[in-house]
Amino acid sequence: MQVRAAVLRHMNVAPPYAQSKPIAIETIELAPPGPGEVLVRIRAAGLCHSDLSVINGDRPRPMPMALGHEAAGVVETLGEGVSDLEPGDHVVMVFMPSCGHCLPCAEGRPALCEPGAKANAAGTLINGTVRLSSPAGHVHHHLGVSAFAEYAVVSRNSVVKIDRDLPFVEAALFGCAVLTGVGAVVNTAQLRAGSTAVVIGLGGVGLASVLGARAAGASKIIAVDLSPEKLALAREVGATAVVNGGDADAVEQVRRLTGGGADYVFEMAGSIRALENAMQMTKRGGMTVTAGLPPPGSALAVNVVQLVGEERTLKGSYIGTCVPLRDIPRFIELYRDGRLPVDRLLSGKLKLDDINEGFDRLHDGSAVRQVIEF
Ligand SMILES: [Zn+2]
Ligand SMILES: [Zn+2]
Repeated sequence: MQVRAAVLRHMNVAPPYAQSKPIAIETIELAPPGPGEVLVRIRAAGLCHSDLSVINGDRPRPMPMALGHEAAGVVETLGEGVSDLEPGDHVVMVFMPSCGHCLPCAEGRPALCEPGAKANAAGTLINGTVRLSSPAGHVHHHLGVSAFAEYAVVSRNSVVKIDRDLPFVEAALFGCAVLTGVGAVVNTAQLRAGSTAVVIGLGGVGLASVLGARAAGASKIIAVDLSPEKLALAREVGATAVVNGGDADAVEQVRRLTGGGADYVFEMAGSIRALENAMQMTKRGGMTVTAGLPPPGSALAVNVVQLVGEERTLKGSYIGTCVPLRDIPRFIELYRDGRLPVDRLLSGKLKLDDINEGFDRLHDGSAVRQVIEF
């Protein structure tokens, strides 16, 4: 079938994207779902920093690529052997497919699935196939999803079924921002009620971490960002104090507010500088968690004597250490209960054709989560 999709043919085209237009809306060919795959009609897809990192070349991927990995839609057709879904089911897309058989999958850590990671790096579905093409050849899948398109063919394990009454625009956020941000707090850190938390970097993921810290019962939540608007939003959704990360004494401010450092500090900005600050904002014996993704090859200098003598923990968090099949329904329940107001992360809706302008707003920090409605 023919679908309209957002295709990136060259990385590292300079902004403003409204002028340079790195993404073209092309009509490309989508093959029917093969064994173990499903065809999903996309209803909503969010613009995420991980898309931007491909556009600006920070996270190089094979080109051309149909972008988009945070989405929700409706199952249209089932490939051979898929028996636990039905056409008409509503689903959230998961950007890390899992095989269910490798060692990390067997250990209950699908975020680390080995064939899944390999396929995502290669721009294919988890079985190694590519279902998108243009007359010029293959168009790669983005993280097994490629959701800035009218339809997508994905692995069965790239979707989680949800109730039909959840609006698609909100549902989409659970696939990336919420899994990553809330999961970092409740799964990776396993934040204890009454403890103190700092969140650095208030994009969709960081603000989701603020929501998660509040839902998990943190006594103090300090939000750190360069944008006064985002700091104001963080306050509205549960931060008890805010610090402008551009202040020369930002670290000291946080240490003062927490009486010498926080129990948990979450670095969601994706910069080494922010991660260094995060470690200094963490108290002795505390935990620094990072889900920020600086460019590949970035390295961090760690004071090892301090790490040992102060029993510090530094933890990476990918997809919030989530088991999507378990966590998406849980987080949706918290949302319905009013304890995880993820709809507050929405900055606006846009049309597929305005996607380049949308990425300008993400690039300059004037938007948190923008969602394309189909
Ligand atoms: Zn994302
Ligand atoms: Zn696996």
